[in-house]
Amino acid sequence: MTNPRVLIVGAGPTGLTAAVELARRGIMPVVIEKRKSVSHLSRAVGILPRSMDILGPSGVAKAIRAEAITFRRAIFHTNGEQLASLPLNSHKNRKNRLFGLPQNRTELHLRNAFIALGGKINYGAELLSLSQSDAGISVSILGKAFRFDTVIGADGTNSTVRETMRIPYNGYELAGLWSIADVDAVGWKAPRAFQGYILDQGGVVVVVPLTKNRFRVIANRPYALASLPVPMNIAKLYRAANFTISVRQAETYQIGHVFLAGDAAHCHSPVGGRGMNLGVADAADLAERIVNGTTDGYHAARHPVGRATIKQSERARRIITSTHPAIRFFLRSFLQLARHSPLLQRRFLKNALDL
Ligand SMILES: Cc1cc2nc3c(=O)[nH]c(=O)nc-3n(C[C@H](O)[C@H](O)[C@H](O)COP(=O)(O)OP(=O)(O)OC[C@H]3O[C@@H](n4cnc5c(N)ncnc54)[C@H](O)[C@@H]3O)c2cc1C
Repeated sequence: MTNPRVLIVGAGPTGLTAAVELARRGIMPVVIEKRKSVSHLSRAVGILPRSMDILGPSGVAKAIRAEAITFRRAIFHTNGEQLASLPLNSHKNRKNRLFGLPQNRTELHLRNAFIALGGKINYGAELLSLSQSDAGISVSILGKAFRFDTVIGADGTNSTVRETMRIPYNGYELAGLWSIADVDAVGWKAPRAFQGYILDQGGVVVVVPLTKNRFRVIANRPYALASLPVPMNIAKLYRAANFTISVRQAETYQIGHVFLAGDAAHCHSPVGGRGMNLGVADAADLAERIVNGTTDGYHAARHPVGRATIKQSERARRIITSTHPAIRFFLRSFLQLARHSPLLQRRFLKNALDL
């Protein structure tokens, strides 16, 4: 199909990546977003080398690199003791860096690139319904009917596109509350390091640098800041919230010319920092297929990648939150060994950067 009429539902990182990747290849999609304006909330922070490669040709990677911080090390602690401090950047290959930028800034750079290509984001426009026939896809937006050839559901975990197409979102909810707090902190040690605190009874708290003095604290318990086992001199609290986590994957990523990408297709815990990166990769793959007319292979290409990522994230989550004495012993021993082993450090780096 030459120059298909493409609708992208959702202007999060997935929808915006699809928009940029289509627009720079000559297909200008219609993008709708139910929010009234840009998001000021940041969820994802870590941007993997593979995402930077994808975002290179559009210039978005350059804009991210100019503003982002690079994580230098991952430091792990337990019971007041530092278990290991592992490098998070490859000295051999400077391209393989883990960048850190609040998600709303990454979205802003994507949005700017799309607008520079002549695109427009229709804020305050919510997709209400959708139906597909041989004649195309009919959608209802703001009470009006429109017709498209292709629809990309990049509308997050509660995807209207997925629900309207009755695609099962199989998986489970994790028990218990997780929590997040974004703060400015004064005098925090190792401000460029990702720091993990392994607590008793399967507790874990992570401190992630956001900008020079700003940090995100995430815990698998309520009240992230109260769970942090070391003092933090907080100058300003930007937000604090508790949240629950689902681990799910859509049974299929496509029905006809309706596609799912990003959180609409999969979700899991923040352990490993993969969610946004996976959505960026889905979006880039799908955009290329729409341009090349090879969309039939989208589900077969991306569903196994999503499944493997969920499996990997869940394995890591189960290990770091385990209460089982043998697993805790294994984790502790691995980290202590890795401190002195270049081989284990390389393996850790490879996993952390998804190389
Ligand atoms: C605490 C936390 C930390 C995280 N950290 C990381 C990390 O470090 N690295 C990482 O890779 N990932 C991380 N993630 C995951 C990451 O935030 C998500 O995977 C990512 O936001 C998914 O992007 P998306 O565009 O697919 O969906 P979303 O960001 O949810 O965007 C979907 C958009 O669709 C819009 N929408 C919904 N329904 C409609 C409709 N009917 N009509 C129009 N618009 C609609 C929504 O308003 C929204 O803007 C984290 C998540 C959490 C909760």
